[in-house]
Amino acid sequence: MADFEAMKVEVLSGVGRAKAEALAAVEVESMLDLLTYYPRRYIDRTNQAAIVDLEDDVEAMVMARVDSVFSKRLAGRRTMVRVSVSDDTGRLSLIFFNQPWRDRQLAQGQEVVVFGKLDRYRGQHQMTNPIVDLVGDETGRIVPIYPQSASAGLQTREIRRWVDEALRRSRPRGISDPVPEALRQRHGLVGRHRALDSIHRPTTLDERISARNRLVFDELLRLQLKLVMRKRAVERAAVGISHDAGGELVERFTESLDFPLTGAQRRVIGEVADDMSRSVPMHRLLQGDVGAGKTVVAVAAMLTAVQGGHQAALMAPTEVLATQHFLGVRSLLEGLTVPAEDSLLGERPLRLALLANPTPGGERSRIQESLATGEIDMVIGTHALIQEAVGFSCLGVVVVDEQHRFGVEQRAALRAKGSQGASPDVLVMTATPIPRTAAMTVYGDLDVSTLDEMPPGRAPIATRWARTAAEEAEVWAQVRSEAGQGGQAYVVCPLIEDSASVEARSATEIHERLQAGELSGLRVGLLHGRLTPAEKESVMGLFRSGGIDVLVATTVIEVGVDVPNATIMVVVDADRFGIAQLHQLRGRVGRGHRQSACWLLAADAVGPAAERLRALVDTADGFELAEVDLELRGEGTILGERQKGRNDLQLASLRRDKDWVVWARRAAGEMLDEDPGLQRHAELRSEVELFLGDDDAEYLMKS
Ligand code: ADP
Ligand code: MG
Repeated sequence: MADFEAMKVEVLSGVGRAKAEALAAVEVESMLDLLTYYPRRYIDRTNQAAIVDLEDDVEAMVMARVDSVFSKRLAGRRTMVRVSVSDDTGRLSLIFFNQPWRDRQLAQGQEVVVFGKLDRYRGQHQMTNPIVDLVGDETGRIVPIYPQSASAGLQTREIRRWVDEALRRSRPRGISDPVPEALRQRHGLVGRHRALDSIHRPTTLDERISARNRLVFDELLRLQLKLVMRKRAVERAAVGISHDAGGELVERFTESLDFPLTGAQRRVIGEVADDMSRSVPMHRLLQGDVGAGKTVVAVAAMLTAVQGGHQAALMAPTEVLATQHFLGVRSLLEGLTVPAEDSLLGERPLRLALLANPTPGGERSRIQESLATGEIDMVIGTHALIQEAVGFSCLGVVVVDEQHRFGVEQRAALRAKGSQGASPDVLVMTATPIPRTAAMTVYGDLDVSTLDEMPPGRAPIATRWARTAAEEAEVWAQVRSEAGQGGQAYVVCPLIEDSASVEARSATEIHERLQAGELSGLRVGLLHGRLTPAEKESVMGLFRSGGIDVLVATTVIEVGVDVPNATIMVVVDADRFGIAQLHQLRGRVGRGHRQSACWLLAADAVGPAAERLRALVDTADGFELAEVDLELRGEGTILGERQKGRNDLQLASLRRDKDWVVWARRAAGEMLDEDPGLQRHAELRSEVELFLGDDDAEYLMKS
């Protein structure tokens, strides 16, 4: 592959300066680029439709001859090209608007493949702006069609010819295969030379599938090798703390709970304990849907550190959340004592502190002092925790809640708070799950644990989509009646990207409208991002204490707000939100024992927006929704557009190739177990470097 990379496309016959430039425009500069410039689709000649069989409004592909080309100027600098084509069964018109170059591209007598939808204009069959590929003198049964760029002046048949030449010229020497034979056999993979041959020139569709599988595996294997090597290098470099995970403090804690742990909680607490007892620092992501019970896992991790005399820190993204965590954890830990040598009884109460921004100055410095001396066992706070002045005596574990609000740098800063050169263990929690296989790629540097089981006895949140005015009226009637019985409700206002002030204004308007109209007589509060922290806290306080019936709010309530008495959520213009966000939002209700409801207001959602709403109505499972989201939005949203372009995943899809992701991850782990530096797999190692530079891995790990 390195040889192919070193060879520029100019060595091919027919590639001069102009064509080389055109190829460069689609990022093909070397022979390697060309060989990995895969067809975007294939035409199976036995599968095409005859013109006579085409049906109105149905997408179809036909292969036909160009009979005539006619170009015309329309008013206002618009152009129209009309091309008449035919096959043995009939005749068809192709109409192109504003594509004047079609006149030059298409000429009488050419063979073309046309994709499009048949429509009828004045009784005549035609296709408007179809996709056209030139087939040229192609004779094979399956014809590859390359992503082409008309503006760059490249045609699929030219690319086909160059690829053919490249393949033909590599035949005498052969293309090497860096994947060990045993691994190829395990997954039934064809050799690489054959795979490259048949991805470009399949003789059957099955052959194309085996070729794709092989090349997909290669892409994913390189990526996983890179990620796993990275992870292991970090582990080797860092010195961690071997916590004693067998102590009884965690057990006393879980026994003191007034509910049994779910199976998933027990399993994940075990995974965390295993990590913490190793001398390598833990670097683990805990995924769990809203309400899955992540706090208990966090507390168990913190107690594992505390029982061996270390300190534990929990970091939350906002003050509201930090305070809430503090109150929650305090009540969970009530009455729990820790071993103490200097006490007569051999025990003392566990010392827990809150360090958030409103903590008054005096108390704040007292807490900081006690953290430095080790008097405090456990501290909960916001990013205030990673400010310079806060030092720990011996920090053993850090739990970061809702990780998407924290950057990698912040996590790193907290890790650096360890003492005596030992890095604390890190557990990152998120309630925005992503599918497991995507997590393996995106969070390549983290181990992932998943709480995939809800505590029993939750009343499900009935989610419904209100489309009509009558349905909406019913929604407000339900809010009134719930408030009449002492319940409370949230009204979430539309998301307005990039403009907090417009968002606040719209929330204010909705508040006024509801207060004067649909919800008159109720106590309606307003919460948005433009309020001061004090104002926000006072509104939230009123809502928590029941002094407000309905809280009209922007998405500031998205993360972690916990008011068990709130049983109804109404989301205005729900079609403007993403799946994950709506799922997070509705997690704000259904926290008590009463049946809760979430209403999605969206009068005219169609297409993907409608599918999102339907998915939310149909399922309450965050992981299933994450899959739907990936399906609807594509992987760009997970990898980030910038990453996507650079991560060497040309063929592999995190959606379609889930099994391959898992297999590649496993294979990478096994290979590196036996051969940590890939010394015995030098070719593979150099290909990993060739395809994935250091920056690329950097991007992947920063998500
Ligand atoms: P998360 O942070 O995952 O959204 P929490 O940790 O806040 O969820 O837990 C949500 C609620 O469920 C809390 O009131 C908690 O006490 C309760 N809970 C946690 N684990 C269990 C369990 N195994 N059985 C019953 N209730 C549980
Ligand atoms: Mg939580």
